[in-house]
Amino acid sequence: MDVESKIDLLKKVDFLGFFHESTLERIAEESREILLSAGDILFNEGDSGSTMYIILAGQIEIYKDETPINALGPGNYVGEMALIESQIRSASIRALTPCSLLEINDDQFKKYFASQPQSLLAIMKTLLARGRKSQAAEKPKPKVEDSPEKLVLPLESILDETSNEIYLFDPIFLKFTHVNTGGRQNLGYSLDELKEMTPLDIAPEFTEDEFESLIRPLRKGTKAILVIETEFQRKNGSQYPVEIRLQLSHTKETLLFLATVQNISERKQFEATIKQMAYYDPLTGLPNRNLLNDRIALALNQAHRNKDLVAVMFLDLDNFKMINDSMGHEAGDILLKSVAQRLIGCLRKVDTVSRMGGDEFIILACGLKNAKDASVLAQKILNTFKSPIMIKKSEVHIGTSIGIALFPSDGQEAHTLLKNADMAMYRAKEDGKNNFQMYTQGMHARAQERIALEKNLRRALEQKEFTMYYQPKIHLESGKVTGMEALLRWIDPELGLVTPQEFIPVAEETRLIIPLGEWILGECCQQIKNWNALGFDDINIAVNISVLQFNQPNLLKLIQNTIAEKGINPKNLELEITETLLLKDNATTIATLDALDKLGVSLTIDDFGTGYSSLSYLNSMPIKSIKIDQSFIQKFKDGGPNLAITKTIVAMGKNLGLKVIAEGIETEDQKDFLVSLGCHEGQGYLFSRPLEIEQATRFLIDINRS
Ligand code: C2E
Ligand code: MG
Ligand code: MG
Repeated sequence: MDVESKIDLLKKVDFLGFFHESTLERIAEESREILLSAGDILFNEGDSGSTMYIILAGQIEIYKDETPINALGPGNYVGEMALIESQIRSASIRALTPCSLLEINDDQFKKYFASQPQSLLAIMKTLLARGRKSQAAEKPKPKVEDSPEKLVLPLESILDETSNEIYLFDPIFLKFTHVNTGGRQNLGYSLDELKEMTPLDIAPEFTEDEFESLIRPLRKGTKAILVIETEFQRKNGSQYPVEIRLQLSHTKETLLFLATVQNISERKQFEATIKQMAYYDPLTGLPNRNLLNDRIALALNQAHRNKDLVAVMFLDLDNFKMINDSMGHEAGDILLKSVAQRLIGCLRKVDTVSRMGGDEFIILACGLKNAKDASVLAQKILNTFKSPIMIKKSEVHIGTSIGIALFPSDGQEAHTLLKNADMAMYRAKEDGKNNFQMYTQGMHARAQERIALEKNLRRALEQKEFTMYYQPKIHLESGKVTGMEALLRWIDPELGLVTPQEFIPVAEETRLIIPLGEWILGECCQQIKNWNALGFDDINIAVNISVLQFNQPNLLKLIQNTIAEKGINPKNLELEITETLLLKDNATTIATLDALDKLGVSLTIDDFGTGYSSLSYLNSMPIKSIKIDQSFIQKFKDGGPNLAITKTIVAMGKNLGLKVIAEGIETEDQKDFLVSLGCHEGQGYLFSRPLEIEQATRFLIDINRS
């Protein structure tokens, strides 16, 4: 049968009358057409089934136990009971004449009809009529007559079978006349209880007046159907979100409100998840960039009206990358979550803290009177970072650098404020981290420089603009040179000498430190060989190894190969690593350290005393020496606690059988004090600045051959 004729027939089907022609066309096109010859059986009572059939042509017969109940022609349908009720056929169908049927499957039924109260109601009315007919056809069942009060209306029994919640209530007093099983189960009330109640008792959101005005258009007939979203309250007090489709149903005998209700908890949950994903950071649960932008826009509007200030603060954790690299991502995640909690603790309810990804956070503080309010808050934040964070039983100290931009003085819109706060944050990093900086206009130029630096650094590596300087390490008792620390220098053709403090952090961020580190190792091993050739067999070279480089899986191989290639004695190579590396008490780190030790390379902890780890590793790891950080040595002149710290470190190092080196020695007093403590070696401007190769060689000859 062609689609046109099918559509014409479908229009005559009672429950399809409400559909737009295009929907009927879709149904006609996508449904299978079944052809039966006279006598063919479509299905038998008790078969399982999840399809219904609309009769397009011919006559079919419905029968039970071989007793005919009904005969139906075009425009009628069969099989819907299995869809609404039980998936089991309640009667048998056979073709009386050759027939053509349109098959509607379960999915289509749900998609088109079950969600349309109008068509559901039409199907039910048909069923009701058919039910009466079938009851009449059935042989009388004496048991039903035994208890007439339990006799249920067929309509109600049909309602009870559907999985939706269905409520019928009278149009005058609004009392429920029937609530199907689905509704009763969800609410926890019995039918008797419900018959004493009205919709207002289960939808607490509405007052009587509100509800009345809501349903007025249905009463007047100006609206056929009303869709309401609200919450239902169960007997036990709990609530669930629902979508109600309400209509006034005119049957011959009565006028009733019919509400089909769908529990939309899942949909609400889904919407909440989507919203959460769109607006919140999954790790910390803090607002993300999207939500932050909304909040900034709101805050700026409000500040404009109230004539007060808004501060946008850009926070970046200090050394997070190192902790993440050395302790692992899981530890990094724990750290970020704890930081989020601490930041929330610093703020008022009206403020927002959001995570931008990585270790970057943004704080939006509103209603400030002046710039000082912002710096007070920034200081408060820095203070909360003073106590360590516990991660997997180890204490980790972390600082943060904060940049602040103020509305209206440092920017008129979110984008500018964020950019300027970011710039101020970089300045805070450059100023030694763990501090805050307010944005100033001069910062703009510096930010430009930084971008240029990164670009230049890549070129420098290609064009070999790097060179190694060597700073002598002196045996404090004898005054002889024991070795040299290799310190990287970059001679930029335009900028001239750039110090490692400026470019090493950028090289680490961009991972350029990895190829650079390989090059440094090659240079240093070559230099060991060159000094060996001059007869300095015991001079070692100490090479700084960054955490990122250390964690490269091929580090051991690289060192082995370089040593072998240059043919040097591994004893002459010393590696300076920092304590952050040892934070990670994991098997790989220990295995690498052990393998390096076995190879004969010696290991030194650089900047000792500034790290945050426990000291227990000194016993368990193959460390040969510790290098006291220069900050302790240089503050000597002030007297005070640094003296005590230095004394303690030297004593402890010696007790553990480690070589103790002091770096940054600038004065005779500092040296004398260290000698009095029995510190083994010293390094610093007092003896020599880092030197170019020729000068370093001269120094070596002058001191060690005199
Ligand atoms: P570091 O390993 O602690 O190196 C010691 C730094 O102190 C060097 O700065 C050195 O020039 C400086 N210094 C030495 N004596 C004195 C003194 O008496 N007074 C003062 N004020 N400073 C002194 P430099 O060369 O600028 O290096 C800074 C940092 O850059 C190094 O700290 C190290 O962490 C890193 N670095 C340098 N070269 C390399 C390298 O080849 N590879 C890696 N991964 N890092 C390097
Ligand atoms: Mg060093
Ligand atoms: Mg150092």
